[in-house]
Amino acid sequence: MKIGIHNWFGYRIEHKERLRLIKEAGFDSVLLWWGDEPEGDEKDKQSLPDAARALGLEVENIHAPFDNANLLWTDDLQAEEIMNRYKQCILYCSVHQIPTTVLHLTGGDTPPPPSELGLQRIKALTELAEQKNVNIAMENVRRFEHIQFVFDRIQSDRLGFCYDSGHENCFTKGANLLDLFGDRLFALHLHDNDETGDLHLLPGDGTVHWESVMKKIKACHYPGPLTLEVNTEFTDLYEGLSASRFLNIAYERIKSMIV
Ligand SMILES: [Zn+2]
Repeated sequence: MKIGIHNWFGYRIEHKERLRLIKEAGFDSVLLWWGDEPEGDEKDKQSLPDAARALGLEVENIHAPFDNANLLWTDDLQAEEIMNRYKQCILYCSVHQIPTTVLHLTGGDTPPPPSELGLQRIKALTELAEQKNVNIAMENVRRFEHIQFVFDRIQSDRLGFCYDSGHENCFTKGANLLDLFGDRLFALHLHDNDETGDLHLLPGDGTVHWESVMKKIKACHYPGPLTLEVNTEFTDLYEGLSASRFLNIAYERIKSMIV
């Protein structure tokens, strides 16, 4: 199985050097953060997919910025800004031949309830994705009923699920999201935590039951890479590790979890 990682895993390193280190550690693919923060500028964003491919890394998907995602479900005028951002992500994937955009439908513990207005917006995004031959993967965050709501009402080969193991462990433990949505799995965000928060730790450094997660992924017959969304930013567990050492450990760790 191929193994991937989020290009933003902590450490302040220049983009291309970051990608080089990822390749050197053995990874096959990257998922790219599409936001302007915490690194980079527009020029870098446009050159990043080719820079990754030049090193022999596949570009698996992009992660759309998710601030104010809740507005999707409301008649707030600013909702159009969120729609535009998500549309830009789909178009960016199309231009750069990246298969999938990963996005959040909500943020926080108390998003607005699922609404017809929100559904129409997701429908419009899905239609754009269909036209552009791009996949949309809806990621589980603190709540997942909006994902269920959308899946119950929109059927499209271009609309799927991004499974985040860390979010399930600290926000919705026991929800068995791979049982619910695993037949539409388009992307993986694998990371760990101790359930006190969304720590993005290396697999094995928290309380995620990896044997069961990996068995469930295997049962999904998911053809994509096992992709880490780990980060050194939310913990002091990796203090003193160089970026390349962190990447080496990350790679070996996930490889050792394969069942
Ligand atoms: Zn995630």
